[in-house]
Amino acid sequence: MRTSLFYRLMGAFAVIIVVGVLVVSLIANQTTATEFQQFMFRGQMVRAQDLTGELAAYYRAAGNWEGAKTILRGTSSGMTIGGMMGGDGLWLADANGIIVASADESRIGQTITASERADSVPIQVDGQLVGILVPGRQMMGGMTDAAAQDFLAQVNRSIWIAGLVAAAIALGLGFILFRQITAPLNALASASDKIAAGDLSARAPERGNDEITRVARSFNTMADHLARSETARRNMLADVAHELRTPIGVIQSHLEAMMDGIFPTDSEQLASLHDETIFLSRLVGDLRELALADAGQLTLTRERTDLGVLIERTVAAFQPQANARQITLTTLLAENFPFVNLDTQRIEQVLHNLVSNALRYTPPHGSVSVKLVRAENLVRVEVRDTGTGISPDELPHVFERFWRGDKSRSRAHGGTGLGLAIAKQWVEQHGGTIGVESELGKGAMFWFTLPER
Ligand code: ADP
Repeated sequence: MRTSLFYRLMGAFAVIIVVGVLVVSLIANQTTATEFQQFMFRGQMVRAQDLTGELAAYYRAAGNWEGAKTILRGTSSGMTIGGMMGGDGLWLADANGIIVASADESRIGQTITASERADSVPIQVDGQLVGILVPGRQMMGGMTDAAAQDFLAQVNRSIWIAGLVAAAIALGLGFILFRQITAPLNALASASDKIAAGDLSARAPERGNDEITRVARSFNTMADHLARSETARRNMLADVAHELRTPIGVIQSHLEAMMDGIFPTDSEQLASLHDETIFLSRLVGDLRELALADAGQLTLTRERTDLGVLIERTVAAFQPQANARQITLTTLLAENFPFVNLDTQRIEQVLHNLVSNALRYTPPHGSVSVKLVRAENLVRVEVRDTGTGISPDELPHVFERFWRGDKSRSRAHGGTGLGLAIAKQWVEQHGGTIGVESELGKGAMFWFTLPER
């Protein structure tokens, strides 16, 4: 769990937030301190400039700086910002740079330094330099004043608190966001675990329309296909077992009856056994074809074929059977029909299956006709009969494997229930479509189209 995507995302996010908050807070602290000092200094300078007029007037009247201290002191009240802006930070030096007055008397008699002179304000009387007013250095660099320190500490504390609150909110939002991302991924993972363990009914939740939902949707589609083909595989296996059991049962019971002397071992019995083996081998052959087609291992051997000739040949082969049952079997072929690129053997098998079905389900004195027409970029073959027809509820099933309208009757006629499934397989492999139109009692019309290439 510790190494899950969620924890990794949260971890990375937390590191980014901590680094971000640290950097922003440090920069904000620094900037505040610097800006604050500058602000203080500028205030001091302004104050000093204001004082020069007063001090110049004093000098003009007094002629010297004695007693000037009172002016500096006098300004200290009412000028304080946090107690820092008063005269306490101001020194008055004479024209030579010797300090003559200051609020606290500590540096009286000392000479001002060069850097103090650089930041100083000159005091002139009648164009003559009479003194220099120096804002206290400790105000700009040292920040010794407790109130100033307090103020800065307060600002810093606020910056840190703001940083922590922002970090907490960001982490909370990150938690919700990452949960939203990882929860559907977890659901998807557990669904795929279930499928891997054999539970093909497991599906991933599909909410929204984002990338994860798209993955979930295609995962579900895949699971649907998997479940369907698994069902088809099971059904097919059950159908095959069922279909094989009947003929094998018949052969076995016949042989046993003959061995026990119940049935005579004559040519009639042997012929009936032979019929069963023919049926069995046809069934196995059909199954093999379908299995190969399913596995995608059957490739078409296409050649340019005269479809009209192919139809005539197939129909001619059925003519004796039709005559014997007094069924009229005719063809109606479009003239000047182009050659079509197709696998002759497979399409002959399709025709064979459709015509044999038509004959099988048409009673004596009926008719079966095979028609070849040309549609747009397509050729269309229709096999029409006047037989029993197919009821509307049976129509959708006729192309299914092992589906038979009347099981016993169909098998009695030698039908494997695979004829139409195989026809559909071959037509679709050619890129065509197959279909049926029918009404119960009014015959059926099976058709298929092939692309004219
Ligand atoms: P079968 O071997 O049973 O004929 P098919 O796949 O060829 O298997 O046909 C499936 C079912 O479709 C048949 O059992 C029958 O009920 C129905 N069917 C096929 N062709 C026709 C037709 N021409 N007229 C009526 N029913 C048909």
